[in-house]
Amino acid sequence: MRNRYSRYGTALAALLLVLCLFPACGREPVVKTVLVMDTVAQLTARDGEAAAAVDEGIERLQYLDACAGTGAEGDAARLAAAAGDGTWVDITPEVYEMLKVARDWAARTDGAFDVTMGPLVALWGIGTDHARVPDAVEIEDARSRVGWQDLELAPDAPRARLKRPGMSIDLGGIAKGYALDDVRAIFERHGVKDGMISLGGSSLCVLGKNEHGEDWRIGIRQPRGETAQDYLAVLPLTDAALSSSGDYERYFEQDGRRYHHILDPHTGAPAASGLYGVTVVVRGAHAGMTGDLLTTALFVLGEEKGRALLEGTGTDADVLFVAPDPARPGACLLSAFSPDGAPPLPERLQKQAGNVRWE
Ligand code: ADP
Ligand code: MG
Repeated sequence: MRNRYSRYGTALAALLLVLCLFPACGREPVVKTVLVMDTVAQLTARDGEAAAAVDEGIERLQYLDACAGTGAEGDAARLAAAAGDGTWVDITPEVYEMLKVARDWAARTDGAFDVTMGPLVALWGIGTDHARVPDAVEIEDARSRVGWQDLELAPDAPRARLKRPGMSIDLGGIAKGYALDDVRAIFERHGVKDGMISLGGSSLCVLGKNEHGEDWRIGIRQPRGETAQDYLAVLPLTDAALSSSGDYERYFEQDGRRYHHILDPHTGAPAASGLYGVTVVVRGAHAGMTGDLLTTALFVLGEEKGRALLEGTGTDADVLFVAPDPARPGACLLSAFSPDGAPPLPERLQKQAGNVRWE
């Protein structure tokens, strides 16, 4: 008898050793993909209550889509319906939070990031089947109904109002980032140590390590690549949010010109700041939301004003500016901004593409 137990004991010890040597064994991640928030969301989680975390994460995304999206029951539609009539509209605490943060950044960016862009976004319709180039009168009319100073937020309760008739909000530049932070909190509550929350690849958040026990590897898109898998470079990343904005996400072309979905509130037209795109890496609390709105703001501001904003606000973010290379048609010129003390971004990027030059 004694022998049999000790044999089991030896086998058990050997098994434990194997499990310790190969910690990834038996730790298949739970992965689910859904269409939500106007994009393809993919949630990956390992350890803890991974399946529950992923399911709750998806429910949360669907809930936020209903509150912050463009649907008739959403807060944006209800605020627009009451615009100019003076009544306060009860909104969800989540959208209230987004609006508060958006207002702070509108002030910091001199209105380059402005959630009251609704009239201009609707006029251009970029990304919809009725996208078109409006005339100057239409642009001026829509632009006159944009202005973050005329979005009022009640100080003590989730209520808001738009001061002038015809105003509307558009949360497309902030809602996905807010959602990343929310879903990350759900993952953490469920004990998930390794995971990724990706909202269409252009806004994502990673926790811990990938399935090989290494940092997650995030491809940064070549803005004029043939497919979304054409990368300029790959960035190893852990415990951070990454967001990208560019003129290649949603656009149409007419008479040889590209009209994309990031609009400059000061001109009423697609931002023409000389960039192809911007990628931002942010860590810590609200990383997702900060990264998401920052890429939109930096894309509108362009590199020079963008750098001044980052320095002026002391924003703890790594930024990669991607611009066309004037010396070589079709090639990219990269330049990076890293906060004081951080290892510079170019040293951390694994370069891939040949047609790239660093400034
Ligand atoms: P994506 O949704 O493709 O990741 P962004 O995060 O850059 O892109 O957000 C772009 C969206 O933000 C637009 O589709 C629009 O809804 C909204 N938007 C466009 N221009 C501005 C702006 N200047 N300020 C705030 N939001 C904007
Ligand atoms: Mg963004």
